[in-house]
Amino acid sequence: MKTLKITLLTALLSLMVVSPVMAINLDKLREIKEKLKPLQPTSEQDEITLGKDVAANLLGAAPLVNDPALQTYVNKIGVWIALHTDRPGLPWRFGVLDTGSVNAFATPGGYVFLTRGMLLRMRDEAELAGVLAHEISHVVEKHALTTMRKGALAGMASDALSRNQPGYAKLVSAGTEIFARGLDKEDEYAADRMGVVLATRAGYDPYGLPAVLQTLSSINPKDDAVSLMFKTHPDSEKRLELVSNSMEGRFDEYVNQPKVEARFSSIIKSHIAIYKPVK
Ligand SMILES: [Zn+2]
Repeated sequence: MKTLKITLLTALLSLMVVSPVMAINLDKLREIKEKLKPLQPTSEQDEITLGKDVAANLLGAAPLVNDPALQTYVNKIGVWIALHTDRPGLPWRFGVLDTGSVNAFATPGGYVFLTRGMLLRMRDEAELAGVLAHEISHVVEKHALTTMRKGALAGMASDALSRNQPGYAKLVSAGTEIFARGLDKEDEYAADRMGVVLATRAGYDPYGLPAVLQTLSSINPKDDAVSLMFKTHPDSEKRLELVSNSMEGRFDEYVNQPKVEARFSSIIKSHIAIYKPVK
């Protein structure tokens, strides 16, 4: 804070030196202040708490599928991939939401969700790994966290990031809103590229995520099941094109890594046999 005050004072003085007779332009000063406002790094604990609170809001809209075996399976795959990232120590949690709409998302701190509608459109574990790895990449790179902070903190006096700060509720609601609006397109493309690398590093066929993008691009965009997904993500064909370009020639030696079709099909089959909607 002290440094900020000194910097502001210096900025103010320099304006006066350049043009001593000019009336001080307050808008200009506010602009400078905004630019100089230091965005303090969020502590990992605050990131986790925030992600948990946003996840709780989102879970209010769609509950988890009541199938412990399925949830355990998805968690095992997710945690295995997360262990291959730079942030293996986050409290990673993975969940399948009980909705027919096709979507996946992640909140800060390691809370990753995909919908039953999306899971049932997959053909093997490499595809599931690809989608989870895409979401894990958003968490590792703090895409949602950065977007939330930009949105909620613009114009706020303090960097309210922990539960006991006055602006915290605003941050949580901005965080929840992101999932209705979507992330930056560039963040999505980056998560596709990184997702492919992570899934490959975890031992899966690298083409799992591209295969899911192919499936998504074949769904009629007028289908209600994909409306939110398509509203919040760049065009699937464009994503497929960009991720394929970035993969070209670099993944050839990994194409024989397993897709794990048999285990995936057997889990899905058992799930369908016992499935009862939560609501
Ligand atoms: Zn994404």
